Amino acid sequence: MKDYSNATWVDPSLGWKPRAVSELPERMLVDFATKCNLRCPMCPVWGSDDNAIESVKGVMPVDAARRMLDEIMAATPLVQPSMYGEPLLIPDLKGRIVDMKSRGITVAMNTNGLTLTDELANFFVDVGVDSVFFSLEGVTRETLNTIRGINKIEKIESAIFRLMRVRGDKELPRIGVTMVKQDGNAHEEEAFVARWAGIVDCVRIGLIFENGTYPGMVTPEKRLPCPALYQTMPVHNDGTVTICCLDGFKATNVGNIFKDGVNAVWQGEAFAKVRYYHETGQWDEVPFCKSCNGWAQHEFEDEIRDGLFIRRSPQFVYYNRIDRLNNWTGKLLGGHPEPPTTEQIRTTVAAAE
Ligand code: SF4
Ligand code: SF4
Repeated sequence: MKDYSNATWVDPSLGWKPRAVSELPERMLVDFATKCNLRCPMCPVWGSDDNAIESVKGVMPVDAARRMLDEIMAATPLVQPSMYGEPLLIPDLKGRIVDMKSRGITVAMNTNGLTLTDELANFFVDVGVDSVFFSLEGVTRETLNTIRGINKIEKIESAIFRLMRVRGDKELPRIGVTMVKQDGNAHEEEAFVARWAGIVDCVRIGLIFENGTYPGMVTPEKRLPCPALYQTMPVHNDGTVTICCLDGFKATNVGNIFKDGVNAVWQGEAFAKVRYYHETGQWDEVPFCKSCNGWAQHEFEDEIRDGLFIRRSPQFVYYNRIDRLNNWTGKLLGGHPEPPTTEQIRTTVAAAE
């Protein structure tokens, strides 16, 4: 790891001891294509005005994407093939997925599911896509319309059941549904969990990010450096790297992997400077992070209830099917501690009865 502790921007009186940074990120969010068939008002990119969107739309060149994958494959990271795009709209999606899977990369996607055909569902299962989570947001057409501007809830639900049917009892993909809780759908949270918990492998309830923070999050008192800065690299379709996936308009540009490579940006001076400010509590020096409480997302509490393994963090609640926990493993854990095995849970429950 490159040592920046004597850099000109470091204040020696703070006695900064840089935290270790891996050679390559363990998780990458890669916008292979910034294209979407929706315009969710909550979306930091597609919820903006047309001129702003035009500046970030685009498709990642295939050769540059392959060079990136060649470099990162040694670390066998998790790649989420979209950040501000609908992954099913990536041109030659199958080719991009084969590029990743053939290099031993874990592939996890969040989709709105609108264009998931039988053929694509079969491909995902055959090629071993690791995880597919559907952003569903509610249980009624009205609520879906409020949150995502469409009322095709039956179409998305059919896509979920299509993938579940094709996968059957196979281990992968891990299948989930998600809700980002906000004013327009909070009244359906309970019904959402009741509708899907125990059916899909995981129901994930998150909080909305608004005006630079998660207003619904209970934030611990003592602020710590954000774990995302040490785990996740967000890559935009032109190769630009930002410090955070919440930065859709690239305000925190710390380099370009097409120009310099993944390792050079991940361990580069611009990224190191941001980590220095976090590690020394100089939050004012990173305006994008200044008022954000997203750093608190990695403290977990577990519970076994109603036949489910429930994990809570300040930002998320995960309702997991106990009999499908075996596929929540490896890089899919994304910073989570390993959950107990199905067998361990059964033994714990039997002992408590
Ligand atoms: S589906 Fe996702 S990428 Fe598309 S507008 Fe909605 S939140 Fe944004
Ligand atoms: S503190 Fe917030 S804005 Fe900054 S990197 Fe973490 S999640 Fe992103």
